[in-house]
Amino acid sequence: MSTTTSVTTDLAYQQCINPDCRTTFPVRQVAFACPSCGDLIDVVYNWDRLPVPKSLKHFESKWSKRLDPLCFSGVWRFHELLPFAPSEMVVTIGEGQTLLQPANKLAEFVGQNPGRLYLQYEGMNPSGSFKDNGMTAAFTHARMVGAKRVACASTGNTSAALSVYCSATSYGFQAIIFIGSGKIAYGKLAQALDHGALTLQIIGDFDDAMARVKQVADRLNIYLMNSVNPFRLEGQKTIMYRVLEALGWEVPDWIVVPGGNLGNSSAFGKAFLELKHLGLIDRIPRLAVINAAGARTLDELVGRHHLTWNDGLPDAQITSGYYGSMDASGAKADTIASAIEINRPVNLKKCLRALDACNGVVRHVSDQEIMDAKAQVGAGGMGCEPASAASVAGAKRLREEGVIGPDERVVCILTAHQLKDPTATVAYHSGDPQQFEKVLGSRGIHRAEYSNKPFVVANDMEDIVRALLQNFGDS
Ligand SMILES: *Cc1c(COP(=O)(O)O)cnc(C)c1O
Ligand SMILES: [Zn+2]
Repeated sequence: MSTTTSVTTDLAYQQCINPDCRTTFPVRQVAFACPSCGDLIDVVYNWDRLPVPKSLKHFESKWSKRLDPLCFSGVWRFHELLPFAPSEMVVTIGEGQTLLQPANKLAEFVGQNPGRLYLQYEGMNPSGSFKDNGMTAAFTHARMVGAKRVACASTGNTSAALSVYCSATSYGFQAIIFIGSGKIAYGKLAQALDHGALTLQIIGDFDDAMARVKQVADRLNIYLMNSVNPFRLEGQKTIMYRVLEALGWEVPDWIVVPGGNLGNSSAFGKAFLELKHLGLIDRIPRLAVINAAGARTLDELVGRHHLTWNDGLPDAQITSGYYGSMDASGAKADTIASAIEINRPVNLKKCLRALDACNGVVRHVSDQEIMDAKAQVGAGGMGCEPASAASVAGAKRLREEGVIGPDERVVCILTAHQLKDPTATVAYHSGDPQQFEKVLGSRGIHRAEYSNKPFVVANDMEDIVRALLQNFGDS
């Protein structure tokens, strides 16, 4: 590419992750794959010419300037660590006001010592999922390049986030969303519809919708907001900055995150590599990426077929062989955790890099384990949707295997809010056999060990009192 030599002197630029290619191009160019080889793209910085803080404590000074939207945002108060956009171009709706909570009751379930398990509640974002961290960054880039129509394919939360960034800002953005048929939880569909997104339901699954939205974005010159968009990952790095912030800038031992398209895990790895490079942390935590059993491409590739980052050149034959056999057998992702119901994770390579950087591990957990963990999250805290609970189920599994020690400090990322998927929650708890079978039984879930069943009583005072006295428990 003719631009290769000139842009590397820019403060920020885009670069192909393939070490045999390394094509570079300017931040203001719109491309969702390397123009030379089609591989994934990174946003890269010339850190030595940027005003990087000497210590992470620097960011505490932003708290006193919260009337400035860039200091209020849980993403942009770390602007110095994602410096690809001028401040006046930033699109923010106050995302990232999220909590890291010690979860002592849940620690018992997972097998951690008291005080050693934390939950990072990303469901507290404006659209109710961590996706807002990425959207604010991608919308900022879209604004920099003058885009108006923005599109994504989604299992639900990306489209909800995209829709709210269009409706809640006044830069003339139009939301266009592609969803697979029958695959979207109602809470999420409700958001897209409520916020006025142009919604296309493709007869197919997420991967079909993904393939189409890429083609359509190309043909109609629409800005693509899926996590192949490297700017989204820049925003998602800040989830890790907030975890460190909440721990007084101490590095935990483990970050446990559900894996779908692998944008989050990729972003976390990039965040820690950069912080280490900048001397802002002295060690990198270990990363555990948790698949659902019914959508375990990463675990199969890494755990069974030994696919590794290999200095940027992962063995492509392993992946194509696996995808080939998946196609031949007609296997399709199927899990109650719809947000991670993905066959071909788009950020696979970047996730391999993150696993390499973070001495990472990959596991899969069953839908039964996911729903049980979800019930325990709800009983001991603020609640999450099924996909989010994969992190907790995964931590429990790794604890049982002895990979995570009982005294290690573990942070599970709760990626989205409990109300995203009420169908799964009610089916688990209500005890209605028909509902249970339809939503859960069909997915191999047969028990609801942690359910909190409602009692049906006659509209009669004595019956009501009797039911209460029988069920108060012994508190
Ligand atoms: C998108 C999403 C995920 C998957 O994240 P990736 O970055 O695609 O791996 C997990 N949980 C929830 C709730 C999500 O919305
Ligand atoms: Zn390339």
